[in-house]
Amino acid sequence: MPEGDTVFRAARRLHTALAGKVLTRSDFRVPAFATLDLVGRTVDEVVPRGKHLLHRIGDLTIHSHLKMEGRWDVYAPGDRWRRPAHQARVVLDATGGGPGSAADVSTVGFTLGVLEVVPRDQESEVVGYLGPDLLGPDWDADLALANLTRDPERPIGLALLDQRVLAGLGNVYRNELCFLRGVLPTRPVREVHDPARVIALASRLILANRDRNARVTTGVDRPGRRFWVYGRAGKPCLRCGTPIRHGELGDSELTLRDTYWCPRCQT
Ligand SMILES: [Zn+2]
Repeated sequence: MPEGDTVFRAARRLHTALAGKVLTRSDFRVPAFATLDLVGRTVDEVVPRGKHLLHRIGDLTIHSHLKMEGRWDVYAPGDRWRRPAHQARVVLDATGGGPGSAADVSTVGFTLGVLEVVPRDQESEVVGYLGPDLLGPDWDADLALANLTRDPERPIGLALLDQRVLAGLGNVYRNELCFLRGVLPTRPVREVHDPARVIALASRLILANRDRNARVTTGVDRPGRRFWVYGRAGKPCLRCGTPIRHGELGDSELTLRDTYWCPRCQT
């Protein structure tokens, strides 16, 4: 599941592949942008913003979000895609050579949850609502803490997923953070002991995983041991042996997400 660390790595791969190059093909397979042609434009940079990706291309920005199933792949021209073509939402090929040169790289966005092109000076319309970005140059732990504690009655397990509070955490991290701080995800923020430590731990965990391919919160990089509670329903707690519980938590039907906790370690 894409969280801020996954998106950070995707942006870095895309930036390495495209930055400073001229687009030789832009094929948007979504109706709203089907006729948009960016050929001949230079890609300035690709940057992550929380769980969002921004391709900055002259005065335009391609805004994408992986949501649950999306991903961006980087290929050599002519490589076989690792996903079926009908899942492709956009193809961007580019060349680092001079005018008229053939593409030396091909990038494909598959099943993106969001794909839109906006004027670059209006990026704030699509990502301006985000809280401080855990992996961004603007990371601000004090502001994240202020955002987190603004609604003291809200369950901590919901507040941590709210990208307006802080940007970058997904469902794996929110479950693991609640375990590591010994707090039930349903507990209101006002009852969480020292919420600044939750923020500090979130930052440490996601930074530690930023450059890894397999996300680990336990310090043990072995299958089945990488997480304390996430995905471990019914299995013994790695700390106390009590079976891990599983439920769903959300503000509404739409935001219901899988929740895992140890009924003994978390109170
Ligand atoms: Zn336990």
